[in-house]
Amino acid sequence: MTEIFDLHCHTNCSDGALGLGEVIRLASEQGVSVLSVTDHDTVDAYHNLPNTLADNGLCLIPGIEFSTQWKNTGVHVVGLNLNLSSSTLGDAVQYQQAQRLARAEKISAKLEKIGVKDPMERVLEIAGSAGVSRVHFAKLLTERGYVKNHQQAFKRYLGAGKLGDVQHLWADINLVVEWVKSAGGVAVLAHPSRYRLTRTKLGCLVDAFISAGGQAIEILSGSQTKDVTHHLVQLANEKGLYGSLGSDFHSPEYSWQRLGMHKALPSSCRPVWDLF
Ligand code: AMP
Ligand code: MN
Ligand code: MN
Ligand code: MN
Repeated sequence: MTEIFDLHCHTNCSDGALGLGEVIRLASEQGVSVLSVTDHDTVDAYHNLPNTLADNGLCLIPGIEFSTQWKNTGVHVVGLNLNLSSSTLGDAVQYQQAQRLARAEKISAKLEKIGVKDPMERVLEIAGSAGVSRVHFAKLLTERGYVKNHQQAFKRYLGAGKLGDVQHLWADINLVVEWVKSAGGVAVLAHPSRYRLTRTKLGCLVDAFISAGGQAIEILSGSQTKDVTHHLVQLANEKGLYGSLGSDFHSPEYSWQRLGMHKALPSSCRPVWDLF
């Protein structure tokens, strides 16, 4: 029997809807045997591992999804197979979380200017113990009736070029990859097709990622077309990168990101787990 890997998903320690125990239960129901929870800029989910983990017969690979930028594009780098006791990783998370808070203040100030009342206070309540994410702002704008849903919140207020798009905030791509490597992990360029770059520009990003020390790229992420998959396989093989795959699961409500949705990597890819 082939094992099903899902090496990218989120819990409510970042912008996911479920706690780790529920994510593990759902992943296991979907036949996943190797799972990596990759919350945005945090490894908090790993600090309270449920003792039902072994019962689910699931192998958990410590992971994270770091926010970074390349030129003016917001880019995500997944770190897999991390040593969670690395002090560099601890410092990295602290730095990124401080940036998250600073960004939340900036977004809140802009929202106040357009009439939103006490956005910072409310967004901190919504985020709870999670680092503040734009998804939490999307919830705020939805509950106050500014938008109908999260998609609309991103389209009008939070997405690229809008008020919530605060630039030059995160650690740069070289530093982020260095953090992952220093924690003994493998750096993976997340969902390459989501940056809306031309093929030439994506090639340049991949070159920058490789020269930073990146070793793998997500070939399969959430729902995508066969054409995208074909192009990413070509790109990975041309650049000598290992391939990864993941649902980018956030919530059972998002049908396009289901745990365990990708059953296997295309056979021409070298799997990233060969490096674990
Ligand atoms: P942040 O990490 O705070 O920059 O927020 C980015 C997160 O927002 C992504 O990881 C997605 O989960 C979510 N997101 C980005 N774009 C959209 C969108 N158009 N609609 C809904 N959620 C989105
Ligand atoms: Mn997210
Ligand atoms: Mn991402
Ligand atoms: Mn993600």
